[in-house]
Amino acid sequence: MRSKRRLNKKGKILIGAFIILIVTLITITFLKKNFIEHELIETKNYTLKVDYPQIDNKELNEKIIKYMQKQKEQFLMSIKNQDLINNEKYDFQATYSKDEMDKITGIHITIYSYIGGSHYVRDYKSYYYDNKTQEEITIRKILKDDKSLNKLSGLSYYFITEYSNENQLNFNEDFIKSGISPKLENFSHFSLTGKGLELLFPPYQVASYNNGEIKITIPYKELKEVLKQEYIKVKDNEDSKIIIAESRNLELFKGKKLIAFTFDDGPSLGPTNKLLDNLDKYNARVTFFTLGSRVKEYQDTLIRAYKMGNQIGSHTYNHLNLTKLDDYNALLEIKKTNDTIKGVLGVEPNLIRPPYGNINSVIKEASNMYTILWNIDTEDWKYRDANRVADEIVKNAHDGAIVLMHDIYTTSVDGAIMAMERLEKKDMPLLQ
Ligand code: ZN
Repeated sequence: MRSKRRLNKKGKILIGAFIILIVTLITITFLKKNFIEHELIETKNYTLKVDYPQIDNKELNEKIIKYMQKQKEQFLMSIKNQDLINNEKYDFQATYSKDEMDKITGIHITIYSYIGGSHYVRDYKSYYYDNKTQEEITIRKILKDDKSLNKLSGLSYYFITEYSNENQLNFNEDFIKSGISPKLENFSHFSLTGKGLELLFPPYQVASYNNGEIKITIPYKELKEVLKQEYIKVKDNEDSKIIIAESRNLELFKGKKLIAFTFDDGPSLGPTNKLLDNLDKYNARVTFFTLGSRVKEYQDTLIRAYKMGNQIGSHTYNHLNLTKLDDYNALLEIKKTNDTIKGVLGVEPNLIRPPYGNINSVIKEASNMYTILWNIDTEDWKYRDANRVADEIVKNAHDGAIVLMHDIYTTSVDGAIMAMERLEKKDMPLLQ
């Protein structure tokens, strides 16, 4: 009897272990198949927003996600059991931007976390891979020879000093020198643009935190001894790009009730294009408050939206709470976005929707843009339910209403289209 009971126990343990194994395997397969693109969590204590990259290079993609998740776990650990100070919510914002160059692709990760104190903590990481071989690379790959790094260091010193002088920032000479010393890791954030080699130095690398990140562009003509020949562009017309938007006869809408559909956090490939596909059917145009960090990767979608006559506004670069940044960095978030959009469309936006609707009078004044908030919040990101989005809109629709949605979720776009269908029957046209 005794031995039988023991066997039973053993059997139970075995079955238990087997179940755990199966559950783990199912979870792994599930996670692999249904890989999350966006994560958004709002609790009493914190906001967490992560945009995970979706690049073709699977191996590197996984590596980057692992890195982002590690940072996320660290954030969650550090605020665990912490009470709020002065009612300031903790915050974690991780975004990436994809930088497609001729021969290489760069993925730039920026993570901002607010775990108390006076400002966000920033973390920058860039990854690169060769477009042909898919192999992960560093700046070493594009440098010409052994002496290139020293030359790059010297050029960087020159251009940072020039930047400091032009903006009357009085950077400390030794601070710059230590940040640009000839080590590969000092030049780990680069981009080959139409104008030259763009280098980004995170806060604290070449100047104090308050000066924010420093970006310089070294023209190709200075780089003959620095870059391999194949990475030097001879001529480029990237500057002269201006895209003409379709204009609409607004007379047609005179005297009618109007409602504005606005979409934040995009552009995206699937959802944004699905929305664009459906607008003509309802003779509608909408407003996109785009994130600067996503503009380059989805520039074709942005151009399409703009050409159709939709309005393009700014939702800042990294989706940070502007009131938690010092004014310089808050304005930098706005300026970077405007520059990026101008680079793609040829025009700068004049509308801004600050993330979370948070902005102060100083930033508002200095930005010289119209701040646009909303009066119908569909909470689409929370429920991810198209019917609910449509119901919220139709229920609350009124002349002059501004509806808040996000064009990174298919459910939001589907809900918006359903609402258009139903509102049209009520004779309420849509106008940006
Ligand atoms: Zn947003």
